[in-house]
Amino acid sequence: MFPKTFQKLIEDFSRLPSIGPKMAERLVLFLYKGDKEFLKSFASDLNNLAENINFCRRCHHLTEDDQLCKICSNPQRNQEQICVVEDPLDAISIEKTKAFNGLYYILGGSLSVINQKEIDKLNFNQLVRRVKEEKIKEVIIATNPTTDGETTALYLLRILKPLGVKVTRLGRGLPTGGDIEYADEVTISSAFQGRTTMN
Ligand SMILES: [Zn+2]
Repeated sequence: MFPKTFQKLIEDFSRLPSIGPKMAERLVLFLYKGDKEFLKSFASDLNNLAENINFCRRCHHLTEDDQLCKICSNPQRNQEQICVVEDPLDAISIEKTKAFNGLYYILGGSLSVINQKEIDKLNFNQLVRRVKEEKIKEVIIATNPTTDGETTALYLLRILKPLGVKVTRLGRGLPTGGDIEYADEVTISSAFQGRTTMN
């Protein structure tokens, strides 16, 4: 039997994606046997993650403080384009390519079916409000090229079209069934350039 503290940490690690109980035991043992200073700074980084990171109230991207994120608060960004993505990691991948200089909107996931329960789980309402209230001319839908991503894109088109805004979808070339987060920079850039209007 492991000491109680060990056991608790093994359970914590086991809750992380792709980490089974055996791997969790190895990680906890590794941390215990390793550098104590690293262990303390690791613990304090985790604490900072819980305490200091928030979601931007305008786009739901990650931000270090309670204010708008760096992208929303940058007047140099194109204020007429919003790129809609499923999660913050997608926005971070797109940012690395420098192919897009507009604003973002993070949905917080995707729809597997279009029904009210699924719709309520994501942040659609605030997007509609932004398109109405800000001078948005184009909404670029950059949900993942998966079945759920396509379902989400169709739902977005349905709610955005009546607002008279141009709605585009990233071009082909992104690997089908894949995730924007894992696509390389050239692929993402060309998907932006090859985006097509959704009707
Ligand atoms: Zn923001």
